[in-house]
Amino acid sequence: MNYQEIKKALGLKVDSGKFEVYSPVDGGVITKITLDDAVSVETKISDAVKAFEVWRQVPAPARGELIRLFGEQLRTHKKALGAMITLECGKITAEGEGEVQEMIDICEFATGLSRQLYGLTIATERPSHSLRETWHPLGPVGIISAFNFPMAVWSWNTALAVVCGNAVLWKPSEKVPLCALACQHLFDVACQQYETSPPGLSQLLLGERDVGAQLVADSRVPLISATGSTPMGREVGSIVAGRFGKSILELGGNNAIIVSQTADLKLALMAIVFGAVGTAGQRCTTTRRVFAHADLHGELLERLKGAYSGLPIGDPASEGVLVGPLIDKDAYDKMQTALEEARAAGCTVTGGERVLADQYPDAYYVQPAIVEGSDSLMNVIRETFAPILYYFRFDELVEAIDRQNDVPQGLSSAIFTNDVREAELFTSALGSDCGIANVNVGTSGAEIGGAFGGEKETGGGRESGSDAWKGYMRRSTATINYSTEMPLAQGIKFDI
Ligand code: NAD
Repeated sequence: MNYQEIKKALGLKVDSGKFEVYSPVDGGVITKITLDDAVSVETKISDAVKAFEVWRQVPAPARGELIRLFGEQLRTHKKALGAMITLECGKITAEGEGEVQEMIDICEFATGLSRQLYGLTIATERPSHSLRETWHPLGPVGIISAFNFPMAVWSWNTALAVVCGNAVLWKPSEKVPLCALACQHLFDVACQQYETSPPGLSQLLLGERDVGAQLVADSRVPLISATGSTPMGREVGSIVAGRFGKSILELGGNNAIIVSQTADLKLALMAIVFGAVGTAGQRCTTTRRVFAHADLHGELLERLKGAYSGLPIGDPASEGVLVGPLIDKDAYDKMQTALEEARAAGCTVTGGERVLADQYPDAYYVQPAIVEGSDSLMNVIRETFAPILYYFRFDELVEAIDRQNDVPQGLSSAIFTNDVREAELFTSALGSDCGIANVNVGTSGAEIGGAFGGEKETGGGRESGSDAWKGYMRRSTATINYSTEMPLAQGIKFDI
C-alpha cells in the first residue's frame, strides 16, 4: 500500500505544512505536515485538564467500553496501520502488523482491567474502624515515544491511562508523526461511536524536543511516561522529579543471551538471529551481546555466520524480506563508528557494510554485523541502535552472568540451557539483574500480560500488564471510624 492508499483505508486526512516527513524505505519525503507550537501546546494541555475533570467521573467499566471500541477500530484497520508503520518506520510487514496486534491485545487487557482496579481492605488495630486503599485517577498523562515503536508504546500507555480515568497528551517521535496521526484519528472515531467522551481526552502534540520539553515542564501533567534513549530519560526524569511529578521511564537496553553448554543450539540460533537482526537491530530489546560457552563457541559462531550470510535484506514491504532499513543516515554513521571502534580494539568484524546503495541512494540498508570479542574488548557497555551483535566466549556460568550484568543498562536478558539449576540461578536474585529474564526464549519482544521495563539506566519504569496500571493512578488510604469513640493509634491517650 502506498501513502494515499493507506490514508484512504484509514479515512485519514492530514493537514499540509512545512515539516518534511521521510520514509526510511527510500529516503524520500512522504508528505509535509504542520507541527504544534508553544501556544497550541498550552491550549491542548488546558483542554486535557478539562477532559480529565469530566472523564474521572465516568465509572471505570464505562471507560473500558471506549477502549473496547478503539480496539475494534484497530482490528478493522490492522493492515493499513501496519503498512503505515512499514512506510514511515521501515519495519517489515509482519513486524508492522505485529505491532498493531500488540495494540489490540492491550485494548483487550485494559477493557478487562477496567472492572478490576482493585484496592485493598486492610485489618485495622482499632475497634469499629475500617482501613482501605482506593485507587483514583491521576490527571492528564504525558506520553513521549521513540521512533522504533511508533504506535504500540502509545497504546500501552493510553489504554491503561484512559481506563484509569485520565486524559492523555502524546508527543510522538518527530521521525514518525504519520503513525501518530493515524492512531489519533482512529481513537477519535471510537470517541464518536462512544458519544459521551469529553473533547480533548486524547490529543497529539506534534513536534521536536522543544514540544516534549514544554509538556515535561508543565505541573498540570502529574505523570510523564517517556520512552527513548537514556540521555533523553536523564533529562526528562530530572525535570519531572524537580517538580515532584511522577515518571515512567523506558530507556535504552544492552541485552544479552547466554548460551550454556547444555543449550538446544537450534533454539538458541533462531532466538539470536531474530533478536539481533529483527527491526534491523532497532528494538530496545534487540540482542546486542552473546556469551557462548567455550564448548560450543566455535560451532555456534559458524552457524550464526551461515545464517547471517543468507539474510534477505531490502524493501520491508516485500514478501520474504527479514531486514529492512535503518531509520536514517545518523543511525548508519553511529553503526560505522561503533564498528571502527571494535576493529581498533582488535575484534574481527563480519558484515556491517551498506548494501543496496545503488537502488536506494537516500536510504540506509546494512548487512547486520557480528563482532567477535577480543582481549581488549570483553564486553560492550554502550547501546548502538543498529544490528551489531557482539560475540563473546565464557568458561563458567557465574562469570557470564557477571559480564552480562556489568553494563549500565538492565532491560532484557536470556539464557539458553537445558539444566534446571542454571535456569533457576539465572532467574534468581543472584542471576540476571534485568527487568526481563528469559529461559530458552530470546530477549526481543514481550507479551502484553507481563509488566514491561528494565532496571538501572533503562529507567526502572513498568508499562503494559501485571499491576503496571497502578503507575497511572494515585493511591488513597482511608481510615473510617464508625464507633462513638476516638481511639488513637499506638494506644496513645490524649484527653481533652
Ligand atoms: P530519542 O531519545 O532520540 O527520542 C525519543 C523521544 O523523546 C522523541 O519523541 C523525542 O522528540 C523526545 N525527546 C528527546 N529529548 C527530549 C527532551 N529533552 N524533552 C522531551 N522530549 C525529548 O530516542 P529514539 O532515537 O526515538 O529511540 C531509540 C531509543 O529508544 C533507544 O535508546 C531505545 O533503546 C529506546 N527505546 C526504549 C524502549 C523501552 O521500552 N525501554 C522502547 C523503545 C525504544
